[in-house]
Parts: sequence; structure tokens; C-alpha cells
Amino acid sequence: MTDNKQAQHKNRMQGIKEKVDQRIDDAQEERGLIIVITGNGKGKSTSGFGTVARAVGHGLNAAVVQFIKGTWACGERNLLENAGVNFDVMATGFTWNTQDKAQDIAAAQTVWKRSKALLSDDNIDVVLLDELTYMLSFKYLNLDEVIAALKNRPAHQHVIITGRACHRAIIELADTVSEVQSIKHAFDSGVKAQKGIDW
Ligand code: ATP
Ligand code: MG
Repeated sequence: MTDNKQAQHKNRMQGIKEKVDQRIDDAQEERGLIIVITGNGKGKSTSGFGTVARAVGHGLNAAVVQFIKGTWACGERNLLENAGVNFDVMATGFTWNTQDKAQDIAAAQTVWKRSKALLSDDNIDVVLLDELTYMLSFKYLNLDEVIAALKNRPAHQHVIITGRACHRAIIELADTVSEVQSIKHAFDSGVKAQKGIDW
């Protein structure tokens, strides 16, 4: 780089830095957040568990509620339970295969009761509601009740909600929303779900 180009680059970077520093200074509010990770791509639950691990690493109290239990136990559970994170998993292990709607609704309600207890527990700093979105899509849970519980939670408490097709009302209520878009997935090329990667 010529001296002139280097000076131009330095100038531009300094301008960006000043703007970023100003925005960091402006963001002074501290409160619990609702974070939604939705979309069709891979990376929603892993993001949720990653945030729980991040919180636990700072000594915060976190809890996980799983609204769909996959065919396999997830690796994060083995790790995070050892770190003191409580897991509540939907009893029937609702999957796309279950045909018993009444049983699924009852199981959703039971685990939702647990979620409500966590959402009113001052000692819990972070709650992951993994795959909650499907319970609202299928109307297994009452949307207004879910929204009320989220709104009335302790002011410092963070909540992470994952799952495809998140309801508009939850997206509006949330502070941070990310949509994971699928570009491609190994499954489409015939690769079986891999331990440690997919579960
Ligand atoms: P992960 O738990 O890996 O972060 P996810 O929570 O984003 O995935 P889910 O919709 O909950 O995705 O599906 C869980 C399982 O389905 C995982 O094994 C994941 O690899 C797989 N999966 C996720 N997205 C896709 C996709 N677009 N095509 C095929 N399989 C997918
Ligand atoms: Mg998931």
C-alpha cells in the first residue's frame, strides 16, 4: 500500500471506530431479553444451548425446557446437567411420528407448567424454551398465556425461544430475533444425522 492509501484506510477505519464506540456508549440499558432463533436452517437449538453454556460459564443459573424430544438424547444435556442446568423434557417425546393428539397436548401442558414456574423464578437468569414455536403452531398451548408469562417474568431474566415458524406475536415481543436460513443440509445428500453434530 502506498502512504496515501494507508492514510486513507486509517482515516476510514477511525471513522467507523468512532461510530461504533458512540453506539456502544449509547446502549446503557440492562435488562432481561427475549431472544428468538427461528427459520428452516440448522443451528437454532445449538445456538440456544450455546447461549446457555455462555451464561453458565459466567456463573449464571440457567434451565432448559425441551418441547420436542428427538429420537436421540442430545449431547448438550449430558454436558449441561453436569454443570447444574436443570432439563425438563416433554414426556411423550413428541415427534412428527406421534399420532395421539390428546396425549401430546397433555404432555405440552405439563412441561409448560414447568416453564411457567421457571418464568416466575427470580433465581433463574436464563431459560431456554427449545422448540416452543411448534406448540403454538399446533395450538397445544395458549398464545395469550405464553405471552403473559413472558411479559411477567423477572426483569433480569433472559429467555431464548427456538423453533421454525415462530408466531408473529412472539417475534414482536422479542428483543432479538434471528432467522437461520438453510443454504444446504447434508441430510438432503443422504447423510444420516451425525452424533455430536445433529444431536
Ligand atoms: P440444531 O439442533 O442442529 O441446531 P435446529 O435446532 O436448527 O438444529 P431443528 O429444526 O430443531 O433444527 O431440527 C433438528 C434436527 O434436524 C437436527 O438434527 C438438524 O441437523 C436437522 N436439521 C435442521 N435443519 C435442517 C434442514 N434444513 N434440513 C435437514 N435437516 C435439518
Ligand atoms: Mg432445534
